[in-house]
Amino acid sequence: MQRAGLRLAARRYRTLALEYSCDDSCVALLEKSRGTITVIDEAKATLSSAAQGGVIPTDARAHHEIHLAQLVRDLCAKHDLWLRPPSLVCATRGPGMVPSLGAGLQLSKGLASAWNVPLIGVHHMLAHISISTLNRPRFPLLSLLCSGGHTMLVLLRSIADHEVVANTMDIAAGDSLDKCARELGFLGNMIGPELEKFVAKIDPALKRRFERDDDTFGFLLKLPMKRARQHMPEKIEFTFAGFLSNIQHFKKTHGLNEQLRAYVAYKLQEVLFDHIIDRVNLALHRHSRVGANRHADGKFADVHDFVLSGGVASNQRLREKLGNLEFHNQLNFSFPELRLCCDNAVMIGVAGMGIFEELRLQLRLDICPIRKWPMDEVLLVGGYEPVPDALYNSIVNSSIQGR
Ligand code: AMP
Ligand code: ZN
Repeated sequence: MQRAGLRLAARRYRTLALEYSCDDSCVALLEKSRGTITVIDEAKATLSSAAQGGVIPTDARAHHEIHLAQLVRDLCAKHDLWLRPPSLVCATRGPGMVPSLGAGLQLSKGLASAWNVPLIGVHHMLAHISISTLNRPRFPLLSLLCSGGHTMLVLLRSIADHEVVANTMDIAAGDSLDKCARELGFLGNMIGPELEKFVAKIDPALKRRFERDDDTFGFLLKLPMKRARQHMPEKIEFTFAGFLSNIQHFKKTHGLNEQLRAYVAYKLQEVLFDHIIDRVNLALHRHSRVGANRHADGKFADVHDFVLSGGVASNQRLREKLGNLEFHNQLNFSFPELRLCCDNAVMIGVAGMGIFEELRLQLRLDICPIRKWPMDEVLLVGGYEPVPDALYNSIVNSSIQGR
């Protein structure tokens, strides 16, 4: 009894996590105790690029130089980390903007060296997906990652075994929403949320008219790649680049008064999300249980959990539309909390603790950031080394607060 009691009290350690792959400087302090992760604190400073209309990599780097170390210092002071250092430093290794990654990784290496603790290098997209594991979905699981830089459907068989089942052939859903929203007069970058709020406020009666009266308004935004099921494509892909040219053409030919602006914004959101659902349905159809249809290869036969992640995942309309997925009754859906959909350091800490505990890997210090890093090559890039058993045990069995 006593031994068991001691062991239970023991499993508790803290992680400092940092994210900086684009324009958000983020830090978080997490604690893992008896299998449960608690977010103790987090902080974020986001670069404003509204005037520039997009993120400029050198500005993003300068932003991290200015803010990231100060955020770490404030967090350390607030939680006494100088006296009781965390047991791990989890840091984004890629993919992302190299100037941003370089600034953050340098700081992370310095912290891990100074505290002499393992540095865990995290794949940014794996982190977006892992944040939903706070809701405990089980492998194998499907993740629809919709962010500013990526749109893909990924089959995760374990934390390190991923297969990209469908990817975008051009730009990401978030990027397309941002570009189209700018064309419709919304200001700034990362303006998907502005578009969502605007569309949500449109009178429901007017929305019903928009549904019925395409011909009146003259903007026929078609579902991209819509083909009969018999024509199962070789590769399942998304495409989002055409939305912007459609809107630009419509603006040129029809102008854009307030009602047309509402109409185009509404249609854009509807059709873009319908396209995502349509492509995911195609994948569900192709990979369903063998015998379910003539294309079915059984790849998803054991999948019961479906995770939506990335910034666009915070859109309520997209979440509603998941109800239109084939087999949705047989899937358990997990959504990150809204605040954790966009870039944050909590997701880096959660994924990093998974890599540490399940793979027992740490990052060597002689590595560089990775700009492009496909999800199915998470461990193929090198630069990882095993955490020695003694060190591993001293962390997961540590009996003190912090270390
Ligand atoms: P991420 O790349 O995961 O940090 O997400 C940022 C992207 O998500 C940007 O393109 C945002 O415009 C988009 N985004 C964030 N919130 C929403 C929302 N509520 N609706 C649509 N897009 C969103
Ligand atoms: Zn992201």
